[in-house]
Amino acid sequence: MNVNNVMADLERKHPGESEYLQAVREVLESIEEVYNAHPEFEKAKIVERMVEPDRIFTFRVTWVDDAGEIQTNIGYRVQFNSAIGPYKGGLRFHKAVNPSMLKFLGFEQTFKNALTTLPMGGAKGGSDFDPTGKSDAEIMRFCQAFMLELWRNIGVDTDVPAGDVGVGGREIGFLNGMYQKLAREYHTGVLTGKGMTWGGSILRPEATGFGALYFVEHMLAKAGKSIEGKTIALSGFGNVAWGAAKKATELGAKVIAISGPDGVVYNPNGMTDEKIDYMLELRASNRNIVAPFAEKFPDATFTPGKKAWSVKCDIALPCAFQNELNEADAKELLANGTWCVAEVSNMGCTPEAIHTFQSAGILFAPGKAVNAGGVATSGLEMTQNCMHISWSGKEVDEKLHFIMESIHEACVRFGSQPDGTINYVKGANIAGFMKVAQAMLEQGII
Ligand code: GLU
Repeated sequence: MNVNNVMADLERKHPGESEYLQAVREVLESIEEVYNAHPEFEKAKIVERMVEPDRIFTFRVTWVDDAGEIQTNIGYRVQFNSAIGPYKGGLRFHKAVNPSMLKFLGFEQTFKNALTTLPMGGAKGGSDFDPTGKSDAEIMRFCQAFMLELWRNIGVDTDVPAGDVGVGGREIGFLNGMYQKLAREYHTGVLTGKGMTWGGSILRPEATGFGALYFVEHMLAKAGKSIEGKTIALSGFGNVAWGAAKKATELGAKVIAISGPDGVVYNPNGMTDEKIDYMLELRASNRNIVAPFAEKFPDATFTPGKKAWSVKCDIALPCAFQNELNEADAKELLANGTWCVAEVSNMGCTPEAIHTFQSAGILFAPGKAVNAGGVATSGLEMTQNCMHISWSGKEVDEKLHFIMESIHEACVRFGSQPDGTINYVKGANIAGFMKVAQAMLEQGII
């Protein structure tokens, strides 16, 4: 395989799909050497087959807003790869959602899910529906209209959606209610991230952020460091940022920045329980702004138009959106002495930013390893649903710890460099790829 040739072919077939092409290039560059050392992969055309989604469903979603106006959005489900298990991955509701974004996310999901140790294939879906400023009733009607189309394509053993940006417990509730009504099927396991009284797993809401911090702990331990007393800047204020802020604070770190599309909140004294709870309120308000945090807590200050990366910190955790940390941000972080960056969002850093961190020799880990605790706990939710039982928080947390440790080990195994450092990007990509490639190879040309 020659990466540039594969990419040229892909660019010709999918012109302008920048996020998708970026995600594929990152993986191919990481695996090129290993791939070429395995002629059986080349012979079975694994890469050519793996970069294309198995199938994509696109559908119109029409609903009525509170003013009685008819609104039309586009809905999608990208079923990317089922080599190691049923399709699994979140739904994203955001105005910028398009096929390129969902293909990048589905592609990433395939490798991420492979890393979790659980049998889950990769998928992603969503809509260009913008939840900002919508009432709860509008969100419900949209979710119902979305499920009216999606329900035929998902199922407990075929495809299990969950949340992502713009889709949390509230949306999963509305989606699940409508699914059951349409399908007349009452198994609890067709969606994950459910409420605790109707099949949800304890710790699923926290799991992405908690798992990320467990991964960071392993990364730091490997480098002879600890998280206690360190300052952390994180972007976003939604579910993922909330879980990360909560666990970081529990582990003795100080979360000194959170951010939103409107700007950054500098929080020099770190988080309290009240502040952490307030992050959930902010998200539920559907306003998509972080400024009210500084109005409620006077020891914090809000600066409009600035990112979290303008705040001097030891550790930076992108927790919001793809490409939210670019080369200029990376340089600013380095100039301020940041020595560890872990992507909690999917593809949170641009390739130039990653290159900047790697050239500077600081610790860097990619989203598909760092944030895999979220989907892994979804996998644990599926298991509980299929067994018709609920595990305790302690049981789920132990399993999550084990999974994050295994992912870290896999990164070390496949990413250790001759100079003794660990390239976590390579490690995660190769570990995920090897598992999916092996599974595809053993199941023939399909
Ligand atoms: N959307 C999350 C992710 O990017 C979670 C997916 C899931 O739980 O299925 O991994």
